[in-house]
Order: sequence, then structure tokens, then C-alpha cells
Amino acid sequence: MAGTFKTEAVVLRTIRYSEADRILHLYSREHGRLGAIAKGVRKPKSRFGGRLEPFFRLALVLHRGRGDLHTVTAAETVDGYADLRSSARGIRAAGDACGSILRLLDGSEANQPAYNLLCRYLALVDEDPAGPIAGLAGMVTFRLKLALAAGFAPELSGCSRCGASDHLTAFSGAAGGVVCPTCEANSFPFSGEAHEFMVTALGSPMSESPEISTAAVRMAGRAIGETLEHHAHVRLPRPEEAAAA
Ligand SMILES: [Zn+2]
Repeated sequence: MAGTFKTEAVVLRTIRYSEADRILHLYSREHGRLGAIAKGVRKPKSRFGGRLEPFFRLALVLHRGRGDLHTVTAAETVDGYADLRSSARGIRAAGDACGSILRLLDGSEANQPAYNLLCRYLALVDEDPAGPIAGLAGMVTFRLKLALAAGFAPELSGCSRCGASDHLTAFSGAAGGVVCPTCEANSFPFSGEAHEFMVTALGSPMSESPEISTAAVRMAGRAIGETLEHHAHVRLPRPEEAAAA
């Protein structure tokens, strides 16, 4: 399949390649995950300027490669998120979001909700890199919404083993959601605050991420992590480690 195609994408990660080239891991709006090589990008006078860097949102023209690696022939900046990039806290939050996409969505099928979520999160962190959106609560909210977009949202409305609707005081990653005392084997204690946070966060825009205590947001982060481990077979780094320092 020769030829060129246009796509919009966020740069998730870059790897140096040979003298002057760079390999890009991209998450695209139209084709999901893509890999591309940018030739001569590390020369001082590269026509791509500095835009083929992590977190840039780009309008790309790619030349279809024989294997999985396409070649970048043109790149325009849709958004460079300059304020995010100038903040260590913003870079950590954006890196965590891009890392979660890398691990969870590795296929070439489009997932527009996931793409929109990533762009929205980067824009919100760019608006306020010192705010809660770039902290632990924002990172956990992003992961929760990403789990939903990827088809792995935890069950929160009733016991995920027996369907009971009361006393949902534990969470089981193996069961994929909250559980009642009868079904709590292999679960961990789950507070009402953590439960309410997850329900509210799933039902509201990311800009309205609810207030939450550190203990409860850690619990919510663990619940999402264990759900993805059991059901998507993906292990994400603990969000409190990414958010620390
Ligand atoms: Zn039960």
C-alpha cells in the first residue's frame, strides 16, 4: 500500500534513531496508534522545527511505509501546549497520560473518544499546570475516563459479582468493580468517598474533576489499576508515584 495520507495525532513518545532521525510513537484521531520516522529532524535546520516532540498535537502528512513505520513528509502544529511544556508538573501529568495511552491502546483502530480525551486533558493541563488537573486527582480522573473509552470501565452501580445494590464497601479488580461483603474475596476496602468520586468523575466533564482526599484518590487509582490489570492485562505505574515530587 504505497501513497501518502493525512492524519491528526498527538506525539506520545520519541526515540532517537541514527544520526539525525527520530522515531515517533503517535496516537492519531483516524488510525489509532501509528509509528513514524522523521528524517533529518535532529539537524539544526530541519524543516520540521521543534514540533516533533512529545505532547505536540499535529496535523501530519505521512508516507505509507512497507511495514509499521511510516515517514513524516509534512507536519503542522495544531497545539504545542507551551505552558504545559514549561512546567515540570505539567510534563509529568502529560507524560503519565501519554504513557497510559501507550500501554492501553496499541491497536490501529480509531478510538475518537480516547483521542478527544487526550487532547482535552493536555489542553486543561496547559491552562493550569499548577492546578489539581495536573495532580493526582486529575491523573486518576484521566485514567478512569480512558478506561471507559477503552471499554474497561469498572462496575460501580451494584456488586460486580452478585448485583446487590447495598453495602458496596470493597473493590475487586478481578470482579471488575465494587463488591458487597458476601462477595468480597480478593478485594480491598473501598470508601464511600472513593466510590462517589469515581461515579461523579465518570459523569462530569474533566474540567469539573471533583474534590477528593488523598486517601480516597489513591483508593480510586488502585481500583482502576487493578481493573485494567485483570481485564485489559495492562499494568500502569502507580499514579501517586508519577504525581510525587
Ligand atoms: Zn455481592
